[in-house]
Amino acid sequence: MSVNYIPAVFEVLRDTDRCIKCRACERQCANEVHYFDEDFDKMQVIEAQCVDCQRCVTICPTSALKIRKNQNEFREGANYPQKLIIENYLQAQTGAVLLSSMGNPVDLPVYWDKILINASQVTNPSIDPLREPMETKVYLGKKSLDIKRGDDGEIIPDTEYPQLELDVPIMFSAMSYGSISYNAHESLARAATQLGTFYNTGEGGLHKDFYKYGPNTIVQVASGRFGVSKQYLDQGAAIEIKMGQGAKPGIGGHLPGKKVNADVSQTRMIPMGTDAISPAPHHDIYSIEDLRQLIFSLKEATEYKKPVMVKIAAVHNVAAIASGIARSGADILVLDGFRGGTGAAPTRIRDNVGIPIELALAAVDQRLRDEHIRNEVSVVVAGSVRSSADCVKAFALGADACYIGTAALLAIGCHLCRSCHGAKCNWGIATQRADLVRRLNPDFAYKRLVNLVHAWDHEIKEMMGGMGINSIESLKGNRLMLRGVGLNDRELEILGIKHAGE
Ligand code: SF4
Ligand code: SF4
Repeated sequence: MSVNYIPAVFEVLRDTDRCIKCRACERQCANEVHYFDEDFDKMQVIEAQCVDCQRCVTICPTSALKIRKNQNEFREGANYPQKLIIENYLQAQTGAVLLSSMGNPVDLPVYWDKILINASQVTNPSIDPLREPMETKVYLGKKSLDIKRGDDGEIIPDTEYPQLELDVPIMFSAMSYGSISYNAHESLARAATQLGTFYNTGEGGLHKDFYKYGPNTIVQVASGRFGVSKQYLDQGAAIEIKMGQGAKPGIGGHLPGKKVNADVSQTRMIPMGTDAISPAPHHDIYSIEDLRQLIFSLKEATEYKKPVMVKIAAVHNVAAIASGIARSGADILVLDGFRGGTGAAPTRIRDNVGIPIELALAAVDQRLRDEHIRNEVSVVVAGSVRSSADCVKAFALGADACYIGTAALLAIGCHLCRSCHGAKCNWGIATQRADLVRRLNPDFAYKRLVNLVHAWDHEIKEMMGGMGINSIESLKGNRLMLRGVGLNDRELEILGIKHAGE
């Protein structure tokens, strides 16, 4: 007889006095956790199938449900926590690589939370953002070193190189159609258009219905080249070459076959139902010179009208890699930290590979300044930018703009159950099942995204005003505005900031 060693991760608690047996939870749960037991005339649960997506808790009309972590505990042992024991059981059962979704949840330092922001007192007075102009518009791309003026002394705008103009310093990071639903993609595209910013196709190509959002779209070219054609490149405002991804540095993308329906297969130009696994390396890139060739092939194909971005995962020696990319002709460098989200990644990679984005960003900005090539590229930071405060700290560490992914999905209903790879997202986001996708209404979802980014933009202006700074450009790389708490000398040195009290 085979024994299932794996206990349920969550307990589903139902208050039977409150439950009116409406069976809404049964209808709404794609994981089939709830069912009605005719014999006992009551609702029952299969707890082992619960992923704690909170859909049933949210829709229950009588607030009868609660999900909590299973209180059952294996014998304690610091070297073998319960999670590892269960993962070993699971691998012994399946013989498979463990898969996970969303960002690295391991209890490693979150440096954003160990950095504090300055505020003006007495001298260099603060600025009231409600009454005085504050500039959060940014331009991404290579910048000229000279300021050019016309005969009348007016500054002539820098148009020598193609740039992206962002009305807010926040973009939506790469999430492919396939990994997220049509409705989620539409929500991001519409929000980016209304906000005057950009969303990113990820490596899944661009559905023809979304061509109309092209001026606010960044089209990605990844190692699998899914959906890449001349027409696709022409649609985007910029092209992003994905060399790496923070959630899974060193390996390619993975879209499980159950997410590849007819529409996704057509957009990606791959057969239906097959796993879409992009190779770890680009097979035509083994050096900075090779990368340069791809950058200029893409520029050539789009008549040098669009900036080309290069996205890398934050890893060891990231500053040296960034320096090479800045010299390779890229207009924008994207740094993706080890907490960046994903639709599917091997658990061991997600939780053990890469470095924190805060350290990577500080090291890269410093290196580019030291080498006098900071103007050659803009730096966009991604991989767990969770709030407006994280954005402000990122700008002060040297970023030109931020990408948000997980925060954007939270805005449209994600409950961070980290089960996207199962393709049964009950919130209609990380799924292609038509009945689930319908649950996400883009008419409402895009407005929530617009609200989120507007709220962050206001908060950024308030924090900048508090520092007596009135533009992102003045804040960029201004590390004097930051202090560390609880960090050792080496960490402070890499971040390039002083300790609080200094
Ligand atoms: S949704 Fe709430 S009230 Fe309805 S059956 Fe489920 S637990 Fe009971
Ligand atoms: S997108 Fe859906 S499946 Fe993925 S973490 Fe969010 S709620 Fe869970």
